[in-house]
Amino acid sequence: MSASLEHVTSLLTAAFKLEVTSVVPLGGYLGQNFLVTTSSDRFVLKGFSNDAHTQAHVEAQIEAIKLARHLMPDTDLPSIIPSQNGQDICADDKTLWILQTYVGGDLIGEGPAAQSELLQSVGQVVGMLDRTLQNFNHSGAVRRDMEWDLADALMYRDYTDLIEDPESRRLADYFFLQFEAEGFSRLSKLRRQFVHNDCHRFALKTDNLRQHVTGVIDFGDLTFSYRICHLAVTISDFLTGQDDIVSSAALITGSYHQAFPLSEDEITLLCDLVGLRYGLYLAHAARMRREHPNNVHAQSKVTDVEHNLRRLIATNPIAFGDALRASCGFETLNRQAKAEQLVAQRRQYFSSSLYTHYDDPLVLSRGSLQYLHDSDGKSYLDCVNNVSQSGHCNPHIARAARRQTSILNTNSRYVYAQMNELAERLLSYFPDNLDTVFFVNSGSEANDLAMRLASTYTKGSQFIVLDEAYHGNSTASTDISPNRIGRPGGLGMPNYVHRLMLPDAYRNVPPGFSGSVTDAFLAELPDLIEKTKGELAAFVAESLVGTGGQFPFPKNYLNTIYAAVRDAGGITIADEVQVGFGRTGDMWCFEEQGVIPDIVTMGKPIANGHPMGAVVTNRAIAEAFDQKVVYFNTFGGNPVSCATALGVLDVLEKDQLLKNVNARAHQLLEGLDALQRKHSLIGDIRGRGLYIGVELVVDRATKEPAREEAKRCVEAMKSRGFLLNTNGYFNNVIKIKPPLIINEADIQSLIHNLDLVLSEIVV
Ligand code: PMP
Repeated sequence: MSASLEHVTSLLTAAFKLEVTSVVPLGGYLGQNFLVTTSSDRFVLKGFSNDAHTQAHVEAQIEAIKLARHLMPDTDLPSIIPSQNGQDICADDKTLWILQTYVGGDLIGEGPAAQSELLQSVGQVVGMLDRTLQNFNHSGAVRRDMEWDLADALMYRDYTDLIEDPESRRLADYFFLQFEAEGFSRLSKLRRQFVHNDCHRFALKTDNLRQHVTGVIDFGDLTFSYRICHLAVTISDFLTGQDDIVSSAALITGSYHQAFPLSEDEITLLCDLVGLRYGLYLAHAARMRREHPNNVHAQSKVTDVEHNLRRLIATNPIAFGDALRASCGFETLNRQAKAEQLVAQRRQYFSSSLYTHYDDPLVLSRGSLQYLHDSDGKSYLDCVNNVSQSGHCNPHIARAARRQTSILNTNSRYVYAQMNELAERLLSYFPDNLDTVFFVNSGSEANDLAMRLASTYTKGSQFIVLDEAYHGNSTASTDISPNRIGRPGGLGMPNYVHRLMLPDAYRNVPPGFSGSVTDAFLAELPDLIEKTKGELAAFVAESLVGTGGQFPFPKNYLNTIYAAVRDAGGITIADEVQVGFGRTGDMWCFEEQGVIPDIVTMGKPIANGHPMGAVVTNRAIAEAFDQKVVYFNTFGGNPVSCATALGVLDVLEKDQLLKNVNARAHQLLEGLDALQRKHSLIGDIRGRGLYIGVELVVDRATKEPAREEAKRCVEAMKSRGFLLNTNGYFNNVIKIKPPLIINEADIQSLIHNLDLVLSEIVV
C-alpha cells in the first residue's frame, strides 16, 4: 500500500522542514516515488519497505550515489538531503524514506529515438558509472532479490509460461534457453562488481540538444552482478525506436569500451544477454499481469520489447558480435577461411553423393526459430524446412531433450513413462481403430517396417505406389520410390512394385478434358489390381505428393484407391513423413481425403529434428507381425526421443500451430496468386497449408519447364536472405514449406522479395 499524500506531506514538513507546495506520485515499477515541489526547488522522495534487508540496500545506494557524485562531477546525480536529525534515511513504521535533489533535464525516453551522438554518450556514461563502482563495496548490499539481475534470470524462467502470445513466449524462452545452454557458464567466468544495472531511457536525462546524457536519476537497482549485464540492460532498452539495432548497439558498446575497456568474451555474450533481458522483461510482465493487473507500468514496454525481440531473433549473432567487436577496436576474425576449410573437409571425408544445396554451400552456425544464421554473418528466413517444424532450437523442445538426456536414456526392452505417454498422446490424434505404435528412427525405417507389416499381415508381396513418389533411403523404401530408383540412372523399378500415374493436375490432364480428374488419374488402377491379384500387400502413398512436386489429390482419389486395394486383399499405408503433424492445416493430411489408412508412417517433424520415426497401425496388423518375428529397435522409442516428441506435441497444442498454419497459408496463397497474375513465369501454384509448390514454366502454353530460371530464383532468393529449394520431375517447382511458426511479416517479406526476384529473371 502506498503512503497517502497527507502522510507524505506531513513527513516532509516534520522530518525535512520543507514548505511543500505540491506532492505528486511518480510512476514506478513497485516503489513509492513522489515529486516534491517547494517555492524554490524540486525534490524526489523515495520510499522503500522498512526492513533490515532493504535498509542495508538503501544505505548502499546512498554510498554509491555519493561516490559517483564525487568521481563523475560532470554528470548530474541526485544529492541526498539529510533529515532534520542529520540522517540520510528517515524511517517510519512501514517505510524508509530518502529525499534527494531533483535531477534536471528531460528523460531521454520522453523524446524521439536517440541519435548517434546521444547513444555514444549513453555508452560513455554507463562505462563511467561502472568504472566508478568497480571497487565499490558495501557489506549490507551484497545480496538482494534482484529480479532484474540477468545473472539470476533463470530463477524467473518459468514465468515465460504465463506469456499469452505464443510467438512472444517462444521468443522470450529462446533467449532463456541460450542462457541455460551456454550463456550462464560463460558469464560466470566474467568480471563482477557493483553496478547501477538500470540505465535505460527513463533513468537517464539529457538537455534540449539531445546529444549528451546530462544526468542519472535512480540507483534503486544497484546490485552486485556482472558488469556486462548492466551494459546489456542499457543496450536492450536503447534499441527501441532504432532502425538499425546492430549499429546502435555498436555505438553504445564502443563508447562504453572507451570509458571502461571490455574483454572480447564480454562482448561476445552481449547479443544473447540483450535477448535475455527482453525475455526477462516479458516474463516479469506476464507475472505482474497476473499478480498486479492494475500495474500498467509493468506492461509499458511490452510492445516495444516484443518488436525488438522479433528483430533480434532475425539478426545473425555473429554479425552482431563482430560489429560490437569492431566498435571496440578488436580485430575481426577471418570467418571466410574457416568456412572454406569446412567445405573442403566435406569433400575430403565424404562421397560426392553428399552434395550440398546452393552454388555456394551454406555454412551454418546457428538456428533460431524460423531463421538460420551462417558463419559469415548473414541470416536467412528458412522457408524450406519441414523437419524443424516448430522452429530451429524451439526452446520448449530443446529443453525437453536436454532434460531427458541428463536423466535417463535406455532402450525399449525396459519400461519407462516417456514411451507410454508419447504413444497415448500420439494415438489420441488418430481414429480409434489405429491403436498400436512402433517407434523407429527415421521416415525410411518407418516405411520399411510398414512394408513388412503389410506383407506379414496380407501374405502378399506386391506394392502399388505413385509415380515420382519418394519414401526413403533404405533398400525397401528405395524400392518403392520411383523418384529415385525409377529415374534415369536409377536401378530400375523392381518387379514387385507397380506405379500408378502421378496425379499431376497441371501436366497430366489434357487441355479441354471435361471428365472426372480422379477417373483420369486412376485409369490404370484396375489393371494394376488385376496384375497384383492375390499377392497385393499394400498401396503406399503420401497423402499429398511431396518430393514429386507438391500435388494434392482430387476429390475421392484416396477413397477410390483404398476401396479397390482392400477389395483385392491389400492394405493401405499413408506416408505422413512430410505432410503430417499439421503441415497441411490438418493434423494428418489424409483427413482431408476422408479416409482412414491401415498404417500411417511418420518421421521428420515428429521430434523437430531429433532423429525419430513412428508407425501407427491397428492391433490385428501389429499382432500378425509379432507372431512371426522378433522386432527390436535399439534406439526406437528411447526416452530422449520420446521426451523430445512429447515436447513437439506440447508446442503444437499450446502454440496453436494449426491455427497459424491456416492463417499463414491463406496469406501465402493470396500473395502467390497475385504474383502469378504478374509474372508469366509462374505456371502453377498448388499444395495445401504450408506445403506449397510454385511451378515455373518458360511458356504457359507449352508448359516448358523453367528449370534454369527456378534455380536462378532460388539462388537470388538466397542472396536476399530466404532459403527455398526446388523439386518435381523437372526440378522447376519451387517448394515452400517453412516452419509452422512463421509469422505474418515473414510471409509478407517472402512474397515481396519473390516479386522482386521474378521481375529480375529474364526468360
Ligand atoms: N517419406 C517421405 C515422404 C519423405 O519425404 C522422406 C524424406 N524426405 C522419407 C519418407 C524418408 O525419411 P528419412 O529421410 O527420415 O528416412
